[in-house]
Order: sequence, then C-alpha cells, then structure tokens
Amino acid sequence: MGTFCTFLGGVGTVTGSRTLVEYDDHRVLVDTGMFQGPREIRRRNWDPFPRDPTTIDAVIITHAHLDHCGYLPALVRDGYAGPVYCTPNSAELIAIVLRDSARLQEEDTAYAVKKGYSRHAQPRALYDSEDAEHALDLIQTIDFDTPIAPAPGFTATFTPAGHILGAAILALRSDEGRSVVFSGDLGRDNHPLLRAPAHPAHADAVVLESTYGDRQHEPDEEGLERLADAIRRTFQRGGIVVIPAFAVDRTEVILKALRDLMGQQRIPQVPIHVDSPMALAALDVYRSSIGDGDPEVRSGIIASGPECIVPPNVHAASTPEQSMMLDRGGKHIIVSASGMGTGGRVVHHLKALLPRPECTVILAGFQAVGTPGRMLLEGVQEMKFHGSYVRVRAEVVDIGSFSVHADADELIEWLGFMSPPPDQVFINHGEADAAAALAALIESELDLVAVTPDQGERIAI
Ligand SMILES: [Zn+2]
Repeated sequence: MGTFCTFLGGVGTVTGSRTLVEYDDHRVLVDTGMFQGPREIRRRNWDPFPRDPTTIDAVIITHAHLDHCGYLPALVRDGYAGPVYCTPNSAELIAIVLRDSARLQEEDTAYAVKKGYSRHAQPRALYDSEDAEHALDLIQTIDFDTPIAPAPGFTATFTPAGHILGAAILALRSDEGRSVVFSGDLGRDNHPLLRAPAHPAHADAVVLESTYGDRQHEPDEEGLERLADAIRRTFQRGGIVVIPAFAVDRTEVILKALRDLMGQQRIPQVPIHVDSPMALAALDVYRSSIGDGDPEVRSGIIASGPECIVPPNVHAASTPEQSMMLDRGGKHIIVSASGMGTGGRVVHHLKALLPRPECTVILAGFQAVGTPGRMLLEGVQEMKFHGSYVRVRAEVVDIGSFSVHADADELIEWLGFMSPPPDQVFINHGEADAAAALAALIESELDLVAVTPDQGERIAI
C-alpha cells in the first residue's frame, strides 16, 4: 500500500512532463508531454515508454501545450487504451495541437526524405495523423471544480491554472487519504485574457513547475514598450518584424498587445499576418470562449467582446504559397509558430529574414536550451536550417515578460497560500538551474522540503 509519485519526464528540462501516480495497484499518468529542444533531449521521444502503457488505468492532461500532451498518440499506438481526462477547452485545443503535431512530423519526414539531409537512412515520424485520431477518440472532459474517479482508489479535481485556455491545476487524492497537487503550468495573476490561477486547498505533496524558477518578469508596461520600440525601429529601416509565437495563447496575447499599441498610436497600423493554421484554429477557440462568457476569461475581456484580440488589419496566411510571399518587401508583422523556432512555418521565415539587417525577430516567450530561439538570444552569428547555414544579421529582441508562466516570486506566493503547507514539494518542468534556484528559494522563504527529483525516481507521498 501507499501512494507514490514517479517522475518519468520533465526532470531537468522544461519539456516532456510525465508523472505516474500509483496507489493500490492502480496507476494514473499525469501529462504525456513530448520532449522538445536539442537533439539529445528530443531523442528521448523515441525511447520505449518506461512503463507498459497497457498497465496505466487513466491519463490526465493538465493543458494543451505539446510538452504536456504531445506524446499521447505514441502512448496510444503503443497500447494505452484507457480514458484521457482534460477540461472541455483543453479537449478542443488538444485536438488542434495533436493534429498539427502529427501533420508537421509527416511533412518534416517527407521533406527530410526528399532533401536527404536527415542523418537517418529511413527518416520516420514519431507518430502520424491516424495515431493522433486514435488518441483523440479516448478523450473525456471534466469541468473545473467537479471531482471524478479517474481510476479505482483515486479522486481527481481540476481548478483553473490561468496559463492558457483550459489549463488546469490538478488535485489527485488516493483513497488512503494522501493527496498531491500538480500546478501544471501556472499562469500569472495578470494574464491579459485569463483569470488568475486558483489556490487549491491543502495537499500532502505539490508538484510545481519551474520554467521561470530563477527569474523575475519585468512589469508589463516595460515589455509592451520594448515591443513597440522594436517595431518602430524596424519599420524605420524598412524591415519586416517576425514574432515566433506559441500557437496557443501566446498568439492571442501578442495580437491583443498589437491591437492595443495600434489603438494608442504607439505603432503604425501595418498589416499583421498570422501565419500558422494551428494558431488560426486556436484563435477561433479563444474568440468563441470570449463570446460565450467563459468563466476562465477575465470579465473585462468578455465585456470588450471577441474582437478585442483581433487587430484591425490582421490577415490569415492559410496556404504555404501565401506564407512564402510574406518574406518579401517590408513594413509588416508576421506572427508565426512555433514559439522557439523548432518547427512550423516560422522556420522558413527565420531562414529568409535572419540574413536581412533591416528585419527584426522578436522573441516573446520561454526559449529552451538548444532551440533556435535560445541560440538567437545567445547571439549566434550563423544558424543552420534544413541542413545549411545562414548568417544572422537581423536584430533580435527579447520580450520574455510576455510570458504566461508565473515567475519565481509568483510561484512562491502561490505555494505560500496552501495551508497547512505541504510535506514535500517536487520541482519539475524547468531547466536544472531554474529548478535548483526555485528549490533553494522555497527552502529559505517557506522552510519546506523542496527537491528536484531524478528521472525515474519513485517517492512516497
Ligand atoms: Zn504550458
């Protein structure tokens, strides 16, 4: 007997979140994240899943980002056939994200075969569209604040995490009375569109994310002015602004910022091209949530109506041909996924625009080690795309304060609300330095046990 957590991913890296919770011979897997970033981390996606997928009773997904749900089609292909629980908004977004992920992998594999640049003799996709559909068939939705029994001996409850639409904090309790709360990715009290994260009641253990565990965000207005400044400078040079943006949520936050800046005449009214079919699909989900008065959305945003996240001159680039045309000329803004430049159409824009000194790349979110976005932040002079190098001459601007992750102080504050405090805090979903810094801060500020578990470590809660 006993209740146990085993960390199967998201350890020492911000990607690949997967935690197994066991009680009385039953197993619940929390998140099925894909590993992203440098090759040695991405390669872990190809390792066999560390537990036989057929022995897992239930999967619970905190939110629709790939690093929390992207591995699900592979898990299902390899034998998992039980329920997959998430919130209704997450279900809509997960469908968009997994279909896009499967399609991108199919396209990248086909491109690698055609160009012959892969180091594998026979490049293949991690999973395909059919696998994604099989995974989506297993999804069952749970509303916020509605306890369910995901597997014998367990009770699960979601509360809003304020990170992206549908994102949940998960409280999981075993029948012996032990409980663990997963922060998932924790949002910020000042997310421009979503309400602040909930404060769950006491739990014996907390699994806390640490994406920004070693940083403080600058105030919003400073980030906004930096964005405006970079855009004005670029247009004075006659260049193009490209903003790699995570398709879900970051795109909406950026479009709202651009709309506000244009409305206040702080930047010129230029065309904005949203160049990501996935981002456009997610934008529809956000618009209908605002239109429906979804309780996750801030009341001020609901009062402003769905168009408050759509600037006046926004254009949708749907076809690859439209996408390629965007790299010509100047004085427009391209918002395109993926947010760290690891895949998607933004890769082609970076390849075309980085050599042009009049252009600007604006990085608006977390950039994991080894990703093109991180390399640009670190000031690389050359970048390799599709097997060949281009010179980096474009300006690179970081507006990381647009993050929809809580920073160190916000994480500590959120944890401090729990009363009585948890016996153990496990830090995951952060790079090693950020996780260690956050653990040290929790020890000194809150005097709690705060550890960064090892990959595969099993802990009694
Ligand atoms: Zn996330």
